[in-house]
Amino acid sequence: MKITVDTEKCTGHARCHAAASAVYPLDSNGYCAVREVTVTAGEEAAAREGAAACPERAISITE
Ligand code: SF4
Repeated sequence: MKITVDTEKCTGHARCHAAASAVYPLDSNGYCAVREVTVTAGEEAAAREGAAACPERAISITE
């Protein structure tokens, strides 16, 4: 499973990080620091939770 964060849409709510801090680290300005990453099996549920929490729908999941 892969997650992609659309940096044009990300406005720094940090809800993704609150739901899954290991999957969605933040940069020094509070924006999601992840651009594209393959998620390990053990982190998939957290990654989905973080994506669902994003109010900007900036996070895409590819199975
Ligand atoms: S919740 Fe969405 S808008 Fe907020 S930091 Fe994460 S990706 Fe960006």
